[in-house]
Amino acid sequence: MTEHARVVVIGGGVIGASVAYHLTRLGWRDVRLLERRTLTCGTTWHAAGLVGRLRGSRTASRLVKYSAELYARLPAETGFETGWRRCGSLIVARTPERLTQLRRSVALSRAVDIEAHTIGAGEVTRHWPLCRTDDLAGAMLIPDDGRVIPADVTQALAAGARAGGAVIREDVAVRAVAVRDGVVTGVETAEGPIACEAVVNCAGMWARALARDNGVAVPLWPVEHFYAVTRPMAGVTPELPVLRDLDGCVYIREEVGGLLFGGFEPHANPWKSDAISEDFAFSLSKEDGDQFEVLMRGAVERIPALDSAEIQLLLNGPESFTPDGNFILGEASGLRGYFVAAGFNSGGIASAGGAGRALAEWIVNGAPTMDLIAYDPRRMLPRHAEADFLTARMREVPGNHYAMAWPNKEPETARGLLRSPVHGRLAARRACFGTKMGWERANWFAPEGFPPRTVYAFGRQNWFAHSAREHRAARETAALFDQTSFAKLLVEGPDAGALLDRLAANDVAVPIGRTVYTPLLNERGGYESDLTISHVGPDAWFVVTGSAQRVRDADWIRRHARGLRVTVTDQTEAWSTLGLMGPRARDILARATDADLGNAAFPYGSVRQITVAGAAVRAIRVSYAGELGWELYVRAADATGVWDALMAGDDVTPAGYYALDSLRIEKGYRAWGRELTPDDTPLQAGLGFTVSLDKPSFIGRDALLAQRAQGVSRRLLLFALDDPEAVAWGDEPIYREAEVVGTLTSAAHGHTLGRAVAMGYVSCTPGESGEALVSARYEIDVAGTRLTAAASLRAWHDPAGARLRS
Ligand SMILES: Cc1cc2nc3c(=O)[nH]c(=O)nc-3n(C[C@H](O)[C@H](O)[C@H](O)COP(=O)(O)OP(=O)(O)OC[C@H]3O[C@@H](n4cnc5c(N)ncnc54)[C@H](O)[C@@H]3O)c2cc1C
Repeated sequence: MTEHARVVVIGGGVIGASVAYHLTRLGWRDVRLLERRTLTCGTTWHAAGLVGRLRGSRTASRLVKYSAELYARLPAETGFETGWRRCGSLIVARTPERLTQLRRSVALSRAVDIEAHTIGAGEVTRHWPLCRTDDLAGAMLIPDDGRVIPADVTQALAAGARAGGAVIREDVAVRAVAVRDGVVTGVETAEGPIACEAVVNCAGMWARALARDNGVAVPLWPVEHFYAVTRPMAGVTPELPVLRDLDGCVYIREEVGGLLFGGFEPHANPWKSDAISEDFAFSLSKEDGDQFEVLMRGAVERIPALDSAEIQLLLNGPESFTPDGNFILGEASGLRGYFVAAGFNSGGIASAGGAGRALAEWIVNGAPTMDLIAYDPRRMLPRHAEADFLTARMREVPGNHYAMAWPNKEPETARGLLRSPVHGRLAARRACFGTKMGWERANWFAPEGFPPRTVYAFGRQNWFAHSAREHRAARETAALFDQTSFAKLLVEGPDAGALLDRLAANDVAVPIGRTVYTPLLNERGGYESDLTISHVGPDAWFVVTGSAQRVRDADWIRRHARGLRVTVTDQTEAWSTLGLMGPRARDILARATDADLGNAAFPYGSVRQITVAGAAVRAIRVSYAGELGWELYVRAADATGVWDALMAGDDVTPAGYYALDSLRIEKGYRAWGRELTPDDTPLQAGLGFTVSLDKPSFIGRDALLAQRAQGVSRRLLLFALDDPEAVAWGDEPIYREAEVVGTLTSAAHGHTLGRAVAMGYVSCTPGESGEALVSARYEIDVAGTRLTAAASLRAWHDPAGARLRS
């Protein structure tokens, strides 16, 4: 008889053990964990065990915070030690810019309830007597951070999982995952098949190849990763905090009376191939003194005593990294019951607890219980999992871990996966390109004589004045944006209208020719997406969504379309999107078309088939800039002709994404992934007007009705900082009187308003009036300096939307 399990976890590293443990904690007893060799034998056994809780984002910090709590209590719960030691972290800054970065982290720490503070360079030796300090600008101390013994954590989690009913089998490799009709049905092993409802691919650096056999893209790649261990040294005690010198690319901690030091060199060494030999278990790569040289130098610069220390071990172990440095956690697109938890970018020990719990909740509840979009497998394209792309990108990913965390930082490697048909036109206009979801996109345009290259800074960056010009053009004359990276989905078929009616919170049962802005919500009433749906023909809807949501939204619509007469076609690359925005947009477009562009024939929120410069164009009258304007959907082959026709006069300015962002924030337009996440509802976001609660049924309706009855306990506010020179980037804490009440979700300079504008959720008491909310005293903590800000529930620019409809 075929063996049966409810879920099979593939891989017995720290991640698989954590997923199995948390599944049993949630009451699923019928769990199998299969490990091809021995628990921990992949990457986990040789990790350095650092558990630093203050990460780059609130979600990441919360996940690691939970891990630390778990590792501290597991021994009492399971009888197995984890080696948890609360030694703290000490992070030093060599430059004033790095100190600003640390101050920004300290500010964030308040919002995630992690104690952290900066200290002067002179105080560093009190915590780390061997540390050189004469070249330091300051440091940050995080007292409750710690370290663990990774193999022990894994064994403790496995013991907890077994106690909860899980069966853990070693020396059983999963050879294949069985699938029928897009749903997982079981796994094949050397010992026979096991039928199951779900698999969790926790196969570490093996995960990509295993997933590929089922057509699932898991973009990760093994990269060499190093540390060295010395013999015991005078002055080294177990109490020393973990020392991180980010500018020197190294971390340093005590290990059996000596020092263990490793780090993230700026140019890493990816494996040539990810074909891994069958007997790779408790294995390492060759020592490579040349590659380690930069880390050795950094460590000796910080701890001069290391110069004469005897190195007893130089370890080169592979670790899986991903293109954006975030791990991959969640259900795969298009294959129900196939979950992935892999690619932990050298943070798998620290993240395992939180990530394992989050994924177990997702599996048990059938949906994520928190915002995990930064880790969602659907945030990337299948082509991101190709070897050429990964090996090129992996050169820089590990180094980013300790590199300066500049706002707007763009990857430098593996660029140009997707180029807009007008890319050459943008380049000729001296665009400085960024990348999103594989696309090259113009961020800003440099004037003649000014290099189109962003110089990063925490203050105003070098593009400020140029982006300001583009922003003003959209407000005062007209700007042309290449928005080709927008995802475009055609949803058609006899059941398409009914399907979209169920998915969309707004009323999309509109006549052909109308465009509706709508949320797609989850059962919790939170945003799965925020998009426009245009009714373009009998049983045909054209769905336009953000660049990053391409795979995710197609998957969301398709998974709800099972059994219905609906087809969903991704047409993203077939259409170019040119956004003509500004008070002169109508006159400029009229030069290239005979179509009637007047308000009666072509009102705001409508879609028309028109001819522009001889090309058939689907024109939608909407604007993300908050101005009179049209998004023109042009067949890729016709795009340059239309671009040229629109640019023919001297009253159109090509504009980039930095301008679009400052325009939308000034106009109070929320962005998916920033203001709108699976944890935020339209009522909290102030977008109740986009929800049609009169509709008898749509996903999320019940949750919204309950929330409306109870009142919301957090609301989105728009801010304008009082100091016109202030620079905010997003993620800065918001203080109401003396208390942290939230963090900014987006920020930019509002060039029309003449000051920084921002948005962010603040906690409030249910039923608190809008007037009381906005009249409170608010401050934004920008790298340790609190700046006063005015708050509003209405947009700073054109709150009534008159310009859109002009
Ligand atoms: C030098 C170094 C230092 C590090 N230091 C730290 C640190 O200080 N802090 C931190 O948080 N992280 C650190 N890491 C990262 C951390 O080790 C990893 O992120 C983590 O161990 C990944 O765990 P995993 O379970 O995903 O992978 P793995 O431990 O590799 O587990 C995957 C398992 O899957 C098994 N498997 C594969 N294919 C199959 C199959 N078909 N069937 C059954 N089983 C299969 C493998 O045998 C393996 O045991 C470090 C990594 C390195 C290399």
